[in-house]
Amino acid sequence: MDRYREEVDPLVVERSEGAHFWDVDGRRFIDANSSWWVSTLGHNHPRLVAALKRQADVHCHTALAGMTHEGAAELAESLTAVAPAGLEHVFYSDDGSTAVEVGLKVALQYWAQSGRPDRNRFISLEDAFHGETIGVTGVGGVEVFRRPFAGVVPEHFRIPSPASGEDAAAAALEKTLEENTDRIAAVVLEPLVQGASGMRMYGPEFLRTARALCDRHDVFLIADEVFVGYGRTGKMWACEHAGIAPDILCTAKGFSGGVLPMAATLMTDRVQSAFLGSDERAFYYGHTFCGNPLGCAVAREVLRVFEEEKILEQAEPKAARIAEVFSELAEHPAVERTRSLGMIGALDLRGGDDYLAGGGWKIYAEAQKRGAYLRPMGNCVYVAPPLVIPDETLDELLGILRESLDAATS
Ligand SMILES: *Cc1c(COP(=O)(O)O)cnc(C)c1O
Repeated sequence: MDRYREEVDPLVVERSEGAHFWDVDGRRFIDANSSWWVSTLGHNHPRLVAALKRQADVHCHTALAGMTHEGAAELAESLTAVAPAGLEHVFYSDDGSTAVEVGLKVALQYWAQSGRPDRNRFISLEDAFHGETIGVTGVGGVEVFRRPFAGVVPEHFRIPSPASGEDAAAAALEKTLEENTDRIAAVVLEPLVQGASGMRMYGPEFLRTARALCDRHDVFLIADEVFVGYGRTGKMWACEHAGIAPDILCTAKGFSGGVLPMAATLMTDRVQSAFLGSDERAFYYGHTFCGNPLGCAVAREVLRVFEEEKILEQAEPKAARIAEVFSELAEHPAVERTRSLGMIGALDLRGGDDYLAGGGWKIYAEAQKRGAYLRPMGNCVYVAPPLVIPDETLDELLGILRESLDAATS
C-alpha cells in the first residue's frame, strides 16, 4: 500500500444528494459510479431517508429466528412480484458477497440431500467477480483477486468469458457440462456485464444458451444480478434481455438504494423444496442481520420508488445519450474500444488491459479537477451514474469525461 499512502489524497466526503457529493472543502463532484454502483436512485433520496427514519423510530432490529416482522414479509412479497418468473422464495443477507455465498451453499446442499453429493463444483466465467468471501472468491475469475489465496479458495471449473467470444464460451460450457455432468452443482455468472473486471459485456444469446445447457444437464443456473439488477442495464433484471429466468438470483447494491447494506437471494420452489422434510434437511445458515428491519423498510421503499416514479422509463433517454457519446468516443485516438448498455458506458484505453494498469488514473485526476468522481478499473474508464441523474448533469459528466480524456492523453 506504499503507493496508495504516498500518492492518494482521498476525498473526504461531507454530504451527498442526488448525483452529487460534496467534500469537506465544499467542492462538489458528480458521482459517476453511484459510489460503487449502489446509489441507483441518487444519494439520500428523500423517500428512502424518510422510510429509514420512520422505521428507526419504531424498531431497528430483530433476528429472523422464531420471530419475524411485517417489513421482511412485505419486502419478500414485492420482490418476488417483480422478479423473473418462478423465483418465489427469498433469503436475506447483508451484501453482494453473502447473497452469492448463499446461492452457492443452497445449490450444494440441494444436491447433497438429493442423492447427488458429487455435484459439488461450479462452472464460472473467466473475468467474473462474485464478491470477497473465500467461497465466492473460488468462482471469481479475476487473477489479482484470487492469487493471494491460492490453495485455500476452492477450485472450480472456469470457462472463457463470453465477452471475449460468445461462440467459444458456449462451446466450452457445453463441453465442460458434458464431461462433468455428475460433478456440477450450478453454473454461476453475471448476466450481460462483468462489472468489476472492467465492464466486459456480452449478448443475451449466450445467456439463452447457458439456460438451455443447464436445463439439458439438469444443473442450476445462478444469476449474480448484484450489479446489473435494479435497472442498471435498462431492464429491472439483466436476465430479462434474454427472456430467461435463473434458478437462483442474487441481488444487493441497488437493492437498498445505497442506504444500508442489505441483500437477497431468490430461488425457485424446486430449490427451496429440498430443504423441507426432516430436521437435518434444513438450511442451517443465517447472518446476524438477516432481514434487518431498517434494511427491509428501505428496500421496500426502493421498489415503490421504481414503480411510482417510473425509474426505468425515465432512464431510457439517458441511456441513449450515454450510448451516443460512447460510440463517438470510439473515434478518440487514445481509445481502443467502447461499449454501452443501459446506464453503463465504458471505454478501454489503448495500451494493455492489466487490472493494475495506470492509464485510467490520469483521467481520474483530470476529472477530479473538473468536478467528477470517475474512478477507473485499470484501463477501463466508465460511467455508471444514478439512474435518476438529471439530463444536464449527465451532459456535464460526459463533457468532463471527454475533456479529461483529451487532457490526460494529449
Ligand atoms: C459488488 C459485487 C459483488 C459483491 O458485493 P459486495 O456487496 O461488495 O459484497 C458480487 N457480485 C457482483 C456482480 C458485484 O458487482
